Amino acid sequence: MKRIAILGGGPSGLFMFKHLLESGKTDLEISIFERKKKLGVGMPYSPEGANDEHITNVSGNEIPMLVTSLNEWVQSVPKDTLDKFHIDPDRFNEYRVLPRLLFGQYLSAQFNLLQKQAREQGVDHQVYYDAQVTDLIDHPDLETVSVEINGQEKIEFDCAIICIGHNWPKRHEGSVPYYFDSPYPPVKLALKLDHPIAIKGSSLTAVDAIRTLSRYNGAFEKDANGKLVYQVYPHSANFKLILHTRNGLLPAVRFHLDDPHLCNDRLLTSAEVVEHIAENDGFLSLDYIFEHDFKAPIKAKQPEFYARIKDLNLEEFVDAMMALRDSLDPFQLLKAEYAEAEQSIRRRESVYWKEMLGVLSFALNYPAKYLSAEDMQRLKKSLSPLIAIVIAYIPQSSSEELLAMHQAGVLDLISVGADSRVEAVSEGGATYHYTDENGQAKSVYFNTYVDCVGQPHMSYADFPFKSLLKNQTVSPAKLKFRSAAEGEKALQAGEIVTQDDQGTYYLTVPGIAINDHFQVVDTYGAFNERIYIMAVPYIGGYNPDYSGLDFSEAAAAAIAKRLFS
Ligand SMILES: Cc1cc2nc3c(=O)[nH]c(=O)nc-3n(C[C@H](O)[C@H](O)[C@H](O)COP(=O)(O)OP(=O)(O)OC[C@H]3O[C@@H](n4cnc5c(N)ncnc54)[C@H](O)[C@@H]3O)c2cc1C
Repeated sequence: MKRIAILGGGPSGLFMFKHLLESGKTDLEISIFERKKKLGVGMPYSPEGANDEHITNVSGNEIPMLVTSLNEWVQSVPKDTLDKFHIDPDRFNEYRVLPRLLFGQYLSAQFNLLQKQAREQGVDHQVYYDAQVTDLIDHPDLETVSVEINGQEKIEFDCAIICIGHNWPKRHEGSVPYYFDSPYPPVKLALKLDHPIAIKGSSLTAVDAIRTLSRYNGAFEKDANGKLVYQVYPHSANFKLILHTRNGLLPAVRFHLDDPHLCNDRLLTSAEVVEHIAENDGFLSLDYIFEHDFKAPIKAKQPEFYARIKDLNLEEFVDAMMALRDSLDPFQLLKAEYAEAEQSIRRRESVYWKEMLGVLSFALNYPAKYLSAEDMQRLKKSLSPLIAIVIAYIPQSSSEELLAMHQAGVLDLISVGADSRVEAVSEGGATYHYTDENGQAKSVYFNTYVDCVGQPHMSYADFPFKSLLKNQTVSPAKLKFRSAAEGEKALQAGEIVTQDDQGTYYLTVPGIAINDHFQVVDTYGAFNERIYIMAVPYIGGYNPDYSGLDFSEAAAAAIAKRLFS
């Protein structure tokens, strides 16, 4: 019997359980530890991450296969539940996004179906609810691990898979009134506010905050032409949301994807990537990936767009795409992209270069640990900001709401550059310090501040299972510099850079080190046969892309393959 512990029963735990069952093995004892009372819903699809107004940014056809399809499941949902979320089962189709809380019910139902399947297959399994894993201890001599629950009981396993997901650290929230380190749980933003509110960020996390705050301070309705309009309530006459971003840009709008699962049959195979790394002194070249996993598929599918970008290197391509966005007012661009996306969805035609950017980001994720430190710095500086904007995919209804609020004069966006800072004010709210587009230094006080930059990459020191840190079972993620001069330069610039006995320079990147099978790696570089991790916030350095459920599916498949190899 192999005793397997899944730590965290959210979507990643769900996909892990599915893959363990798909192995067909029956000599397994699977234990799932979940700190809440419900499986499957995780953070974004439970009240920890959503109210009724929050929607997914993926549709049924984009969700990796579980037991029943979303469409099939919707048909089985009681009418009063569907009515609550304004879903008509006869008009529901696999291209529709849906309320996150309802999606949570789907994921929870899938967990139940998998448990039934496990019973039928004769796989021994047990769920521990209200079971917060407080530590994980490796015993190399015994070839086991101990899982500590609620600071007390310890249970022994042959291996553990860490699926604990999101973490939203608090710095000032709780001690500074009306200062929010994140918009989650969103119920805390159910506030009537008769003043301007500062929001940091403009991506999907900001959209979540906007959807809640807008509803408590005004109402949306359709005008005579069917266009959405917004009106503030009398008690919130001075309500206004001001988005603060580094570059003054809004994210792009959700469009039709040719391939809903971030794949493409023209991508490099994993064997080709391995060969390239071997021929390139052990490094994955960012330029190589950009040429083969981005430009080459575009050449085949959209030659006219390829002709425009074929001579551009990565930085030139990013500059060209950013310049296009910079030249337009962000809300004008949102309106134009909304129209483009509507046509894309109606005709089921992708906006191909944007789709390929999502595919590139997903493809790059897995071998990113082989990038040189120099290439990782380039990725973070050039490609990542473009990816963050283009592949955020604001759903249609959210785009309509943003446009209606801007039209009503209650939503604006300002560019605050990279050196802006936010200062919490102990009496409440925060002051935003920045340099405006005319080079003027500004300090603006807001009674209410919401940080909406999204899930932060957690550092090595933030890792929650302290025995793994203390015993150096895990180690900080690092990338080797190709050039000593660049390593020295980064060191002088204040980056976290270390040197080994041979004098080679390494850049420390967020989170802990893992190998290709998602196994943790110790300070000596040795992987651990017993401990796997697919909690993205803690492996962000080696796994920079946050591709949601597609990642959970891909990582769970890789872990199961390794477990049974
Ligand atoms: C607001 C938001 C919206 C999103 N929307 C989408 C979307 O529409 N589509 C998409 O594909 N992706 C989306 N994502 C990405 C999201 O990360 C994944 O969809 C998914 O939630 C990841 O699941 P997870 O299990 O890794 O993490 P989580 O959802 O965070 O689940 C972790 C689980 O582990 C449990 N847990 C945590 N710590 C412990 C512990 N110590 N002991 C025991 N149990 C523990 C938690 O209670 C939870 O059930 C969204 C993310 C956010 C933040």
